[in-house]
Amino acid sequence: MAALNLSRLIAAAADAIADNAEALTALDQAIGDGDHGLNMKRGFEVVRGEAEAFSAKPLPDALKAIGTKLVMTVGGASGPLFGTLFMALGKEISADPDRTNLTTAFGKAIDAVAARGKSQAGQKTMLDVLQPVHEALLQGKTAAEIADVADRAAEATIPMKALRGRASFLGDRSIGHMDAGARSTALLVRAVVETIGERA
Ligand code: ADP
Ligand code: MG
Repeated sequence: MAALNLSRLIAAAADAIADNAEALTALDQAIGDGDHGLNMKRGFEVVRGEAEAFSAKPLPDALKAIGTKLVMTVGGASGPLFGTLFMALGKEISADPDRTNLTTAFGKAIDAVAARGKSQAGQKTMLDVLQPVHEALLQGKTAAEIADVADRAAEATIPMKALRGRASFLGDRSIGHMDAGARSTALLVRAVVETIGERA
């Protein structure tokens, strides 16, 4: 892979969140407290504002710094979890990753999120998108296919009953709504793989 353009990745991710902040909030209003869109937008706009400084660092350090920043700025349950995802990715990724390294690092980062959240796929959370995306990476799927896998995985949280996070307080009433964190994860995945895929 040619060197990743981190500035472009940050801009694409922040745009995806900003463009969908209201929709994310609406999802969280249905089965949570309605702050997810604002939480994510706040964090990703701070990261966007410091994109130049992040991009000047080697990729592993940049991802760790972005993760730390997301923990500090996103808040809610999702801030520490997305923060963990990026920090763990930074710990495992190489400075110029090939697909194999990226896939392995992503898998370990997902394990770190699951450990932090005491959660696993099937509980109607961001993990229900992260895990199928990891499988798609392992299967050698293209950027466009991976983005579609992520969208479908977010949709697939609709019939699930939430077993983690605020939505789990609703029990069966959480059924029939998409998980907000799964949706934001799918938006981030599409933004990142499409940006990387453009130069493949
Ligand atoms: P809060 O629930 O504190 O208001 P957010 O609304 O920002 O935080 O984020 C909620 C999202 O976080 C959920 O939609 C879900 O995807 C994710 N989430 C919550 N708890 C967990 C957990 N234990 N493991 C994985 N993801 C979780
Ligand atoms: Mg919330």
